Amino acid sequence: MGMRKVRKEAFLKTHPFCIFCGGTVLTDTVEHCPPRAMFPDRAWPEGFEFPACSNCNHGSADDDLLISFLARTDPFTDGEGDDGRMPDIIRSVHQKFPQLVSKMMPSAIEARAMNRRLGIVPEPGATNQEAGPVRVTDEIDNAVRVFAGKLTKAIYYLHTSQVFPTNGRIGLKWFTNADLVTNNGRYRVFESFQGLDGIVPALVRSRSLLNDQFEYKLSLSTDFELMALQARFGRGFGFAVVACTDRAKLDALFSSVEERMGKPNPFKPI
Ligand SMILES: [Zn+2]
Repeated sequence: MGMRKVRKEAFLKTHPFCIFCGGTVLTDTVEHCPPRAMFPDRAWPEGFEFPACSNCNHGSADDDLLISFLARTDPFTDGEGDDGRMPDIIRSVHQKFPQLVSKMMPSAIEARAMNRRLGIVPEPGATNQEAGPVRVTDEIDNAVRVFAGKLTKAIYYLHTSQVFPTNGRIGLKWFTNADLVTNNGRYRVFESFQGLDGIVPALVRSRSLLNDQFEYKLSLSTDFELMALQARFGRGFGFAVVACTDRAKLDALFSSVEERMGKPNPFKPI
């Protein structure tokens, strides 16, 4: 048996149940969450490997592709950390989701206006559309919802050693680089979470810090019932999650906030 197989078997022995579907299904695979393809040179953070049943692991391959694409659409990038894989990723997205890439691209006029506001100058040979922020389509929205749900459960497991239950509820609000444009480079929902106590772990691979590519802040109640999670993927996209292991409690909390604020709750259930 090779070392990789030995390690995998040891991992699955310690973590026998899938953490993505409630913790009752025996695991047969190890899932990298966030997916490795999101990171240049596949240098994903150490320790972000989770037990997954094959249904949960393989069910989201197309979503992982879209997420990797989105994470790499950083309008502020200067080519630093570019591993040259973006053309391959775009080609795969084209194959699996014909026309999606063109639907995501803003028009040339929109792109020029946005880039001017952001001070983005396309690199030689690139158009404003290629350099600029993207539009969100239903496919992308769906992929982010699947991904955010999985990452929330993964981070919950990492910090509590408990599986997020099927009776739990996860509410999501997410943003693209285009929202950064309209808010002068700020994720406004993150600012409203600023007063929450939480931890921002250092994410590392081979002693290099990866927080510029992926960073999160986790706030967790001492009984592990309620959590708030803010995650950011470079300047490609980000999300905020409010989750509770008891869905009725979270629904009640959201309704009381709606009543007080007099407007709809921006956190949509996953
Ligand atoms: Zn599962």
